[in-house]
Amino acid sequence: MKKTVDGLILREVPLGEYDKLLTVLTARDGQVLMTAKGARSMHSKVMPVCRLFTYANLEYYERNDRRWVSGGSVNDSFFGLNEDLEGFSLASYLLQVATEITGEGVPADEILRMTLNTLYLIEKKGKPYEQIKGVYEWFAAKTSGFEPDLSGCAECRCGGGEDLWLDVMNGHLICSECLRKRAGNLALPELDAYQARNILLPLDPSTLASLRYVTVAPLSRIFAFSLTEESLACFGRVTETYLLNHLERSFDALEFYHSVRQPMK
Ligand SMILES: [Zn+2]
Repeated sequence: MKKTVDGLILREVPLGEYDKLLTVLTARDGQVLMTAKGARSMHSKVMPVCRLFTYANLEYYERNDRRWVSGGSVNDSFFGLNEDLEGFSLASYLLQVATEITGEGVPADEILRMTLNTLYLIEKKGKPYEQIKGVYEWFAAKTSGFEPDLSGCAECRCGGGEDLWLDVMNGHLICSECLRKRAGNLALPELDAYQARNILLPLDPSTLASLRYVTVAPLSRIFAFSLTEESLACFGRVTETYLLNHLERSFDALEFYHSVRQPMK
């Protein structure tokens, strides 16, 4: 019996001469693996719904414990992503992050909606790429259970004014004064008392305000802020460092994005 599901093609791996194995992100079942016979042939009727970045209503049937794509229709191909190398590499990276933070059988409604909104914004160039990337990274860290405490210095509870730092691995803020006390006026050792790496990032007030905003904003408003070029650079450094250190990995598409990135205008 044929079934249908709306899903975003997160990943495609060639199988044999003409087929593909797809990782599809769905709201209800998270990641779903599907085999698409003939999807690499230009004459195939399933080819348009089986491309990376495509959000489609996929028709499939189940046989031998596998799902086989038999047809479907495109909801959004995000085809414009192919026209700009920087946007394409950013979108590729964010799909790799989405693959990392979702799993088979785990509902992913919010992650799917956020990922679709993000691809749309990249395609339409609706915000600076660094901002889009940073918001998605922060959302990914929060969704994966790594939301930091941004309420104030974790040690003295001061608001910190202009001199707060993000202690990445401990997921909290610390002020310069407490940092000096913690280090006993010496440079901080590379490893802390728990043998975790000390990663401390300075936060300018606009970056901190943006991080707080992104942490609580509803998805429909999560990109609705702006930053100066300087703060955007700080914001991007913080979100990337925070996510990669908590996921304990890097991504080849991220390295590619950095290699093709244009300096901000
Ligand atoms: Zn303090």
